[in-house]
Amino acid sequence: MSAMAYHRPSSLAEAAKLAAGDPDARILAGGQSILPSMKLGLLAPSAFIDLAALGELRGIRADRKSVTVGAMTTHAAVAASPEVMAAIPSLAKLAAGIGDPQVRNRGTIGGSLANSDPAADYPAAVLALNATIRTNRRALPADGFFKGLFETALAPGEIITAVEFPVPNTASYVKFPQPASRFALVGVFVAQTSTGVRVAVTGAGPCAFRVKVLEDALARRYAPQACEGISLPSGDLNTDIHASAEYRAHLIPVLAQRALA
Ligand SMILES: Cc1cc2nc3c(=O)[nH]c(=O)nc-3n(C[C@H](O)[C@H](O)[C@H](O)COP(=O)(O)OP(=O)(O)OC[C@H]3O[C@@H](n4cnc5c(N)ncnc54)[C@H](O)[C@@H]3O)c2cc1C
Repeated sequence: MSAMAYHRPSSLAEAAKLAAGDPDARILAGGQSILPSMKLGLLAPSAFIDLAALGELRGIRADRKSVTVGAMTTHAAVAASPEVMAAIPSLAKLAAGIGDPQVRNRGTIGGSLANSDPAADYPAAVLALNATIRTNRRALPADGFFKGLFETALAPGEIITAVEFPVPNTASYVKFPQPASRFALVGVFVAQTSTGVRVAVTGAGPCAFRVKVLEDALARRYAPQACEGISLPSGDLNTDIHASAEYRAHLIPVLAQRALA
């Protein structure tokens, strides 16, 4: 491993200044994705800008209309939050199904979204629930945030501060987990929101995406039977040692149906 600097800023402004001053530095949240990437030799940052001391980025606030989760809030905290369980139980369940206890106690929602791993769970929730990603510079809508494989709409040095989820009428998430890591081979988040039905998929493509044909079918009838007979093209989907693109395409309406049930 090559030499690198370590910064532990005590304010968001200081973190942003450090990030703006060094394009090769990386934000450090829980280290659950960045450290494995470094161990594999895929990444060699010049410095870590550790957000651990920024208490204002941690915690959950909820009212009747929305749930706001600070970027440094761990998956375990979301899973155990009475506010999340009451307002969006499917989000608490999603967080409880991420990885293992060690990953859930270190990994954060901000890190998960910034990383945009194709098999990560949170991106499906963010898209289906029409969440807003707040950063130190602006508010980004979920649609358009995930750009591709490990690629988002974040500008270099931009820091996620919180994620705001509007409370849906109803929502559910079902994933077909990769048995070793628990990452989603395919995961489908279905939500009935104030702006209509939204269906988002993770694990199947380069990044999370919505499925219009399922949204249209569920807008007509919000019931498991509405997913019957829907087949999706596999052309742009992932094939790897765990599953073919055809298998993933098959799983999408099946998991949507289970989410509805
Ligand atoms: C064994 C294992 C199993 C896992 N299983 C699952 C699973 O089942 N489902 C799942 O969804 N995930 C899974 N993960 C990934 C896990 O959820 C990570 O917590 C998540 O990827 C983010 O990690 P982190 O918060 O530690 O961020 P880090 O690793 O610290 O950072 C990840 C990336 O995001 C950037 N970043 C971090 N925070 C911010 C911020 N606030 N603003 C801007 N950029 C930021 C960093 O610079 C880095 O590029 C697993 C990981 C492991 C090691």
